[in-house]
Amino acid sequence: MLAASRNHTVRDLATRLPVVRRTVDRFVPGEGVEDALRAVREIKASGRLATIDTLGEDTTTTAAASAATQANITLVRSLADAGLTDVAEVSLKASALGQALPGGAELALENAQRIASAAAEAGTTVTLDAEDHTTTDATHALVDALRHEFAGTGTVLQAMLFRTEADAARFAGPGSRVRLCKGAYAEPASVAHQSPADVRAAFQRCLAVLVAGEGYPMIATHDPAMITAALGQLLVAGRSVDSYEFQMLYGVRPDEQLRLAREGHRVRVYVPYGVDWYGYYMRRLAEKPANLALLGRALVSR
Ligand code: FAD
Repeated sequence: MLAASRNHTVRDLATRLPVVRRTVDRFVPGEGVEDALRAVREIKASGRLATIDTLGEDTTTTAAASAATQANITLVRSLADAGLTDVAEVSLKASALGQALPGGAELALENAQRIASAAAEAGTTVTLDAEDHTTTDATHALVDALRHEFAGTGTVLQAMLFRTEADAARFAGPGSRVRLCKGAYAEPASVAHQSPADVRAAFQRCLAVLVAGEGYPMIATHDPAMITAALGQLLVAGRSVDSYEFQMLYGVRPDEQLRLAREGHRVRVYVPYGVDWYGYYMRRLAEKPANLALLGRALVSR
């Protein structure tokens, strides 16, 4: 599934099938900004927070990177107009902002600065998603540069990468906002833990570094074992409920999201929207075989 997530032929075929589109709805509230705003209003009404991803990645032209930038600026302004910036921030992918193009580091920074500036004006923040390991250094450099001007810029660390414990220590300083997730990309054994048990153990070690630090850990997992372990670590460290948050994906374990929110924990929902849902959707299928079975049943019954 992860290989297919980057295959253009499979993408072109899959995105043309209405039956596939229907199974996508569970994970993506829609293709327009209005759809994202509707989802955020529902999330707000239930006492949760949101981070919104305008879907798109691996941009191959400067024009597409500019369009992605403009789409995020429009999103931020729409959030402000709708009075939702108190609960919603924005998640960005550096590859959507042109990181892989020639001169990409400067281009992605310039585009990210424009979005972060619009976000700051609207009273909210941005977080840079983590993509595959070949981009980690470039994205961390981008976050470092953005944080000079926009201190609230968040970063994402992937526990599966061997390097992440050291990165967690580097990002655990005062004022940092760090999302810790397991990692959604197929990474080679030379750079990443391969077994679920090793990834879980690494997740707990990285989280311990963040929880002991002075920043704001954002614990992004649906895994009951990781949530229990995190609650234990937070309790032992004496962390107050406003000094961390849990994060989960739109459409995944909504009951658990609500349970944690009812218990007084901050819970932020990652809300992706847009036409370019293919790569995101394939990664969700890869995470859970039952999602694939759902798609299989829909295809058979059409
Ligand atoms: P898993 O062991 O995969 O899942 C535990 C349980 O959660 C499963 O048994 C199932 O009940 C449920 N579950 C998990 N995934 C699904 C699914 N797709 N559909 C249905 N049920 C599911 N990865 C990156 O590489 N970069 C990022 O920037 C990034 N940002 C993220 C932001 C948020 C808010 C979250 C929650 C995840 C993000 N991820 C990102 C994805 C992450 O790395 C994992 O791939 C994903 O969260 C699955 O790992 P898990 O910890 O939930 O545990």
